[in-house]
Amino acid sequence: MSLKINITQVREQITEAALDCKRLPEDICLLAASKNQSPLMIEKAYFLGIANFGENYYQEALLKIQKLHHLAIDWHFIGAIQRNKTAGIAQHFNWVHSIDRIKIAEHLNYYRRDNPQKLNVCVQINLANEHTKSGVSIEEAKDLVLTINQLPHLKLRGLMSIPKAETQYEKQLSQFKKLQQTMSTFNKELNFNLDTLSMGMSHDFESAIHAGATIIRIGQAIFGERQNK
Ligand SMILES: *Cc1c(COP(=O)(O)O)cnc(C)c1O
Repeated sequence: MSLKINITQVREQITEAALDCKRLPEDICLLAASKNQSPLMIEKAYFLGIANFGENYYQEALLKIQKLHHLAIDWHFIGAIQRNKTAGIAQHFNWVHSIDRIKIAEHLNYYRRDNPQKLNVCVQINLANEHTKSGVSIEEAKDLVLTINQLPHLKLRGLMSIPKAETQYEKQLSQFKKLQQTMSTFNKELNFNLDTLSMGMSHDFESAIHAGATIIRIGQAIFGERQNK
């Protein structure tokens, strides 16, 4: 497994997908989804040019954040959020992508109060209302974004989703477009300036870019296939 080759290849694919739809490759943030990866692996990826890392489990993430505090990494929380982890998440992360409840947003806001920088957040949308997945439905999202927008220590940046895994490009694209349209509706109707669409993973990031993704979350295409635990 060569991290360097993988990262180079992903970068090339990002550039190609961006140029295909007349976007600038540098407008797409490559976030390395680093769950189960060691601090050493993250450090290697960092020195190969990746500055944004996404973690799913708070305890695991905290150890890595502490070990790698000498690096200028932006840490993103992308996993399910338990209420008793909100204090730590609010204090140690720059971004949270996976808010799907008002209570969680309020707790994050509270625990961010002493930090001069607001916590960047996205609302997670469950596009097909799959009961196995977190996220609010598109219908419920409006109340949640309106509430979050009132919280002084959070900066609402946009929407995140993990859509159904599809192999066909057209099917992937239509799901991602739904998220893009939801954000643009909020911007128009609520007069918001949301600028972030966190969507696209190893198997579907090219279609996500075509639908307007600004952050793609890539694990296996960078670090190699996940071992079954
Ligand atoms: C693991 C994970 C990813 C990355 O998935 P890959 O298929 O490994 O690219 C992206 N987003 C979330 C929320 C994840 O948990």
